[in-house]
Amino acid sequence: MQIEHEVQTALAEILDPESGRPITQTGQVQQAMRDKNWVQVTVGLTTWAAALTDEFRKRVNDALVGALPGAAIDVTIGPFERKPLPLGTTGVRCKTVIAVGAGKGGVGKSTIATCLALALKRAGCAVGLMDADVYGPSIPHLLGIGGHPYEVEGKIQPIEFDGMPVMSMGFLMPPNRAVIWRGPMLHMTVTKFLKDTNWGELDFLIVDLPPGTGDVVLTLSQTAPISGAVIVCTPQPVALLDAIKAVAMFEQVKIPVVGLVENMSTFICPDNGKRYDIFGSGGARKYAEEAGIPFAGEVPINIQLRQRGDDGKTSGNFDDPETAPFLDAIATNLTRQLAERAAAQPPKPSLPVLG
Ligand code: ADP
Repeated sequence: MQIEHEVQTALAEILDPESGRPITQTGQVQQAMRDKNWVQVTVGLTTWAAALTDEFRKRVNDALVGALPGAAIDVTIGPFERKPLPLGTTGVRCKTVIAVGAGKGGVGKSTIATCLALALKRAGCAVGLMDADVYGPSIPHLLGIGGHPYEVEGKIQPIEFDGMPVMSMGFLMPPNRAVIWRGPMLHMTVTKFLKDTNWGELDFLIVDLPPGTGDVVLTLSQTAPISGAVIVCTPQPVALLDAIKAVAMFEQVKIPVVGLVENMSTFICPDNGKRYDIFGSGGARKYAEEAGIPFAGEVPINIQLRQRGDDGKTSGNFDDPETAPFLDAIATNLTRQLAERAAAQPPKPSLPVLG
């Protein structure tokens, strides 16, 4: 259908979050109908940007309201397909790889990595979760999944959680065995996990890194183009010092830090509703502002969240109003940050448009 000039003009400034290009140039404005008092527009959005659906709809709506005063505006956000291209030389068909790291252990890195993957998936993205925390793989436990991945035609079939492919050393080792790695073995395993797993087609691959700074990040940065790192830390100054080291390490290997998460940022006592800042509060946000790092959100200390992790029911955090909004906000903030980065890049002429 011919899209009216007025509608085109109104939407020309709106960028597709994934590609950073105007939606009027990517074939995403799929349908527009108009009479004197009424405008109906359907705009396609890729599943990559699913976490931004509500704010994208609002942006389209506001642009039309501003340009066509007095008309009733009816905006529908529909599907729009853009297939992932293979990632570098890995062959993995994934649009964005996000590494989740922390300066030290115990700050909730694996919990946040798992929740980030779940939040993106629940929003509508195609997500894979790779547990590269080879020394202490906890993701199978956090999700309550097990099994032994098998190989089909040279590809490892990941274990799925609710349709989300998950790969972890935890599936391959008896739970009470410690893994002692030599450098080359570690390199081989992480590379194999990434390249030889049948991930399918992904919008996001979330990679849970081992704590601290080290070999796995180096291997990953050499194996696949990582779009960005999310660093998890707790608010107290001593913990922030470790987070700052992690930021420096990612900068050294040229992986941009796209989000800092402050976990265990405060505690609301369930008995009296009083707020206790056990590890302090706001330290990571302040540091992020000072260092010019995007702040991706905070998660309070929550007893049920810890309990659900222990019980293998991490996904239950999304049914709980005390935890879900914090976790969803991290996924939204991160996607928004990646969209801003896409908008700041020069346009990619080769971008496939399959609308
Ligand atoms: P890491 O990967 O940094 O070692 P984990 O994700 O394994 O950390 O978390 C360590 C422990 O802290 C787990 O028992 C987990 O359930 C708990 N935990 C993580 N985040 C929170 C939180 N916001 N509130 C309460 N407990 C948490």
